[in-house]
Amino acid sequence: MSVETGTQERNAAHAPPRVPSAAAPSAAAYVPNRVFHIPGYWAFIAPVMAAGLVPAYASARALPVAAAVLAVLVAMLIGVSAKVFARLERETARNAGQRAVVMLLGVGLPMLLYGAAAANWARQQGEPFWIGAVGMAGLAATAASLLLARRSPAMLTALAAVWLPLVAGAGAWQGWCILAIGTVGGTLMAWRQMVSYRQAMARRQEQQRVHQRAFDILVDYERTGQGWFWETDASGRITYLSPSLGDVFGCPVEALRGRPFVELFGDDITGHESAATSLNFHFSARAGFRDIVVSVAAEGKERWWSISGSPILDGCGAYLGFRGFGWDQSERRRSQERSSRLAHYDSLTGAANRLQMSQSLETILNAPDEAQRKCAVLLIDLDRFKQVNDTLGHPAGDDVLKQVAERLRGAVGGMGRIGRIGGDEFQVILPGAHEREVLGELAGTILSSLSQVYPLDDKRAVIGASVGIALAPDDGVTSQALIRNADLALYAAKKAGRGLYRFYVPDLHGDAEERRQLERDLREAVATGGLELWYQPIVHTVSETITGFEALLRWTHPRLGTLSPARFVPLAEEAGLIAPIGEWALRTACRDLANWPESVSVAVNLSPLQFANPALPAIVTSALASAQVAPSRLELEITERVFLSEDTSTEATFAALKRIGVRLALDDFGTGYASIGYLDTAPFDRIKIDQSLLRGATAPGSRNGPILASIVGLGEALDMETTAEGVETLEELELVRALGCSHVQGYIYEPPMPLADAVARLARGLDAGTAGSHALRAPRNAILRKIVLEADGERHEALVRNITVSGAMVEAPGPVQPGASVTVHVEEGQAIPATVRWRDGDRIGVQFAAPLVIDTPRRMRPPVPAIAAPPAGDAPDIRRATR
Ligand code: C2E
Ligand code: MG
Ligand code: MG
Repeated sequence: MSVETGTQERNAAHAPPRVPSAAAPSAAAYVPNRVFHIPGYWAFIAPVMAAGLVPAYASARALPVAAAVLAVLVAMLIGVSAKVFARLERETARNAGQRAVVMLLGVGLPMLLYGAAAANWARQQGEPFWIGAVGMAGLAATAASLLLARRSPAMLTALAAVWLPLVAGAGAWQGWCILAIGTVGGTLMAWRQMVSYRQAMARRQEQQRVHQRAFDILVDYERTGQGWFWETDASGRITYLSPSLGDVFGCPVEALRGRPFVELFGDDITGHESAATSLNFHFSARAGFRDIVVSVAAEGKERWWSISGSPILDGCGAYLGFRGFGWDQSERRRSQERSSRLAHYDSLTGAANRLQMSQSLETILNAPDEAQRKCAVLLIDLDRFKQVNDTLGHPAGDDVLKQVAERLRGAVGGMGRIGRIGGDEFQVILPGAHEREVLGELAGTILSSLSQVYPLDDKRAVIGASVGIALAPDDGVTSQALIRNADLALYAAKKAGRGLYRFYVPDLHGDAEERRQLERDLREAVATGGLELWYQPIVHTVSETITGFEALLRWTHPRLGTLSPARFVPLAEEAGLIAPIGEWALRTACRDLANWPESVSVAVNLSPLQFANPALPAIVTSALASAQVAPSRLELEITERVFLSEDTSTEATFAALKRIGVRLALDDFGTGYASIGYLDTAPFDRIKIDQSLLRGATAPGSRNGPILASIVGLGEALDMETTAEGVETLEELELVRALGCSHVQGYIYEPPMPLADAVARLARGLDAGTAGSHALRAPRNAILRKIVLEADGERHEALVRNITVSGAMVEAPGPVQPGASVTVHVEEGQAIPATVRWRDGDRIGVQFAAPLVIDTPRRMRPPVPAIAAPPAGDAPDIRRATR
């Protein structure tokens, strides 16, 4: 037996519902103006009438006259056939008039005849017999009054009918007066009695209805088996139990009567107090109790009952026992257990849910013993999971999640507990102290296990994962801090390229804070127009003319200076700022393009997030329309990340953009995900080969050359143009030319420049190859070329950034200081003596000993033999040429 004390109000004077013990009598029995249904009415009145003849005979000393005897016989006959009148009254007397007729015939007529017989006899016998006649009538009247008590109209009729012939026979006016007064007074009294009687009846019927309803409700409730009633005597022995309990205990409830009530319950399941102890306490204190939850072992399964009771006292306050009710809590408790399970476990994978995991973590971190507060938290985020959902459907996604949970269980084993804390986020808590190496190994096992192929019904799925790890107490002593730090580590793992695990290090915190600050600054920059678009020319390889510009975002941060979009665009994507920034870039680029020559186009970079926006085609159309430029002059640069985005509307967006008539370029081709499949399905007009492929391509033995060649071949085959990005050196330019790239973009021609410079550049013409070479001053050629710089007998590899006939800006990592004499080895056998004029970081400005000779616009060589000192003052020019 068990007791739950939580909801008890032990001393509450709780009144249990009462169980009516007998059915109420029929209301019809009290209808006052009915007569004949009184069983035996005439069986009494007829003998009384007959008996009345005896004293009359004694006083008259003569037989009654025949008429009197006849009248008595008729009266008795009516009496004998009273049943007929009763039926008549019950079945046909629908209204008061009909009932009055029945009453006159059944009650009035026999009494009248009896009174008439008495009067007749008295008349014949003369004066002395009047005593006998009055006795006869009085006797009959008294019997009728008694028998018809509470039926005033019938009683009045009987009395009036029996006395009327005597009064008439006496013929005295005083007799009539008495009869009239008696009849009127009697009628008034009868009327009053009837009214009050009806009121009492109405009250009584209402009471009965209430009782009946309560009774029916309780009986119905008992029958449902949801609850039951009980009653004990003063010694706590059962006097009543609802019959439904017979099923529970497997015996008729009568068999339980007389047994102590507390014996019905099993052992205490909570261990606090036994039900017998608790109930006996209330019984002996005679104090009501409420919702004591007891366990009952019945029908082979455990049940829980909630019982309430209150003492029964008689009118004098004497204690009679206890009475109360109980109800079955088993289902409620089970469903509570179920919902508690649902509240703590993920129904799909069976793993603990976020709530349960955070409770577990709290428990560990708040352990009384400090040594037990150590643990490790691993946050696991699935990569490309949404793609599975979108491409293979949600049932497949669910299947994958189940398998992920299973694999995690396999990898973690008994070391800790796993939980699913979000759509595709899992968590592992490992209690106790763990070596970082061990955790690293576990994270590695998890990663490799989760990246295995997931077999689905008739398909397969491949996903990846990233893991962030934080340890308590090193990385946090509260669950909040620990989770936040594991999350930072997870973020770092994802940022580092996914499929990796990272431990939390305090720097991440700084990174996160910096990121937040940067995000705030970016928000402000977007709001206050702090962003700019710079433009970098794209040059046609063969004609060396500028065919367009790529628009590139620039943000001059008040503290950090000019920031590359490579740094702040991902931030904008995370902060949800890319949509307004992207739209602004589109509109600004189109507006700037409107003022440029018709043959020039502009390329705008699009984030995959912008691409996933269904409103993109509308935004593009609006930007073109408000700037009034032809759609064919706008090129949208999209990276392969678009295809990895978890949106399914990609194809529709491609089609919509193509309908508008804009050109599409696949940017950064070759940077990772490169799949030729994209080229086949998406309607690109251009492939932009990423500069990473170009780097080193000119070095002997590099395999990038053949790769570049195959990309160019692919472009040609698919009728797409190819732009080589980031061409810096002459060697690279020569290579991409040789490979047949249609366009070139890079510092070799021009770096990105502000709008004003781009406009100025366009004003000088579209010829890119001769740019600046006709200037009167020494031409500045922004080229990159590898050279060897010899200083103090040591040779360093260096990079020429900018060169004029009189000097050059060189990136030289060595410790060469201003004033030093150096030799610049441009090509084999071409050594140019020079002097270092300035140094800024790893850049130096050198002044050639003699001006160079120009072969072609971009080929300069030292005069042979070399050379006198250049005119002073050219060196600052070299520096200014830097961008
Ligand atoms: P991207 O679209 O591949 O742009 C080319 C990047 O290469 C630019 O970097 C450009 O300055 C740089 N570059 C051009 N020629 C050379 C060269 O000869 N050598 C070297 N080392 N780099 C060269 P930037 O401007 O820093 O932009 C970086 C990336 O930021 C862009 O790569 C583009 O993906 C993204 N981005 C720029 N503007 C936007 C924009 O408006 N929206 C979006 N969503 N992304 C943008
Ligand atoms: Mg681009
Ligand atoms: Mg690119």
